[in-house]
Amino acid sequence: MQTLKEKDKHFIWHPYTSLLAAPDPILIVKGEGLYLIDEKEKRYIDAISSWWVTLHGHAHPYIAERIYRQALQLEQVIFAGFTHPPAIELAERLINVLPGSFSKIFYSDNGSTATEVAVKMALQFWWNNAGGENSTKRNKILAFRNSYHGDTFGAMSVSERSVFTLAFREKLFDVVFIDTPETENLEVLKSRISGCGDEIAAFIYEPLVQGAGGMKMHEPTLLNELLHTCQQHEIICIADEVMTGFGRTGVLFASEQMEIKPDIICLSKGLTGGTMALGVTACTNKIVAAFRSEDKLKTFFHGHSFTANPIACTAALASLELLQSKACTESIEKISASHFKFAKQLQHHPAVKNARCCGTILAFEYNAGDDHYLNDISRSVTAHMLQKGIFIRPLGNTVYIMPPYCISAAEIQKVYSEIIHFIDG
Ligand code: PMP
Repeated sequence: MQTLKEKDKHFIWHPYTSLLAAPDPILIVKGEGLYLIDEKEKRYIDAISSWWVTLHGHAHPYIAERIYRQALQLEQVIFAGFTHPPAIELAERLINVLPGSFSKIFYSDNGSTATEVAVKMALQFWWNNAGGENSTKRNKILAFRNSYHGDTFGAMSVSERSVFTLAFREKLFDVVFIDTPETENLEVLKSRISGCGDEIAAFIYEPLVQGAGGMKMHEPTLLNELLHTCQQHEIICIADEVMTGFGRTGVLFASEQMEIKPDIICLSKGLTGGTMALGVTACTNKIVAAFRSEDKLKTFFHGHSFTANPIACTAALASLELLQSKACTESIEKISASHFKFAKQLQHHPAVKNARCCGTILAFEYNAGDDHYLNDISRSVTAHMLQKGIFIRPLGNTVYIMPPYCISAAEIQKVYSEIIHFIDG
């Protein structure tokens, strides 16, 4: 008889995992609040919210109950020609809380589809406005270096060329890449945008924190300047808030911190509190107007089987309720304040480079070896922390934590002190 782990090895191909050189996966049989529990009942603090999705803790009883009731009521229905209460209610709720004046919600399944939809919407916006001809010069996308927007082809194209995309390089469409803004390069970046402004359909950006690119952070005032330049050139601004949304940067959405609001915003991950797969691409009336046409060719021909799945929409409604509670807002504030202190403490550590934080996200480079995704530091940090009952997953030598909001002060201190223990050697 094969054990479950042997069967896993036999039958399953895990994401972002070498088929030869990876440690065996940990078999998790239960989630409970902050903790993941393995088959031997060892408990791990999920310090990165299971790839940045879990907001209120695992197996949250309130969300679970709502999911259960919705599953008994209506589990799925085709979303072309049909609609249902959870999708309608969620769209209205999101439009009320999103920063800016959004007018429509387009549903999909995950973060990659949310950004894929955004890029397609922006390109078709110009195509439709040019009368459905290929006459529009506005067909390029502007993106940040080090960006990550997902793993489908369009999302890969607008992401940094990296080890993730190397094998597909030839098949990705050309994108104008610019550095993230700093005081020193701001004017150069603005003139770069102005130089090609009338060819750019849209600018896609991860506001304030670039996640998979290494938790790199930039200032809201500087980003706002770039958005202003984009606006002057009528470039559609697409905020990819798949990671930064739902409280991660200390406020509900990172875009709240800029004066200039996006025309399109992409959401996923924390949207359902991390319980179900769901993607959202919200857009303003300006975008919608280009698709409101008698000409059927101007329809947005995009959709997925599970678009607006009722159970996922219900999970999102339940999660939003929890997120907007006083208790959750206070937790986000407490985590942010405690990260701020810890980042200060880390700044003086000889083995640490660039300790930084933004809201509930804290990151630093562990100063051993190259800053590179494929170096081995990640594995040794992860192994050390796992042994201590903490799950983190550094990006190369970039160590970061992004806990669920249910973490207590004592638990967060435990994570910090194990990090210190590791880097002290
Ligand atoms: N955009 C950003 C900013 C992300 O961080 C991610 C996932 N890490 C994605 C898009 C893609 O999301 P998904 O993994 O759900 O496809």
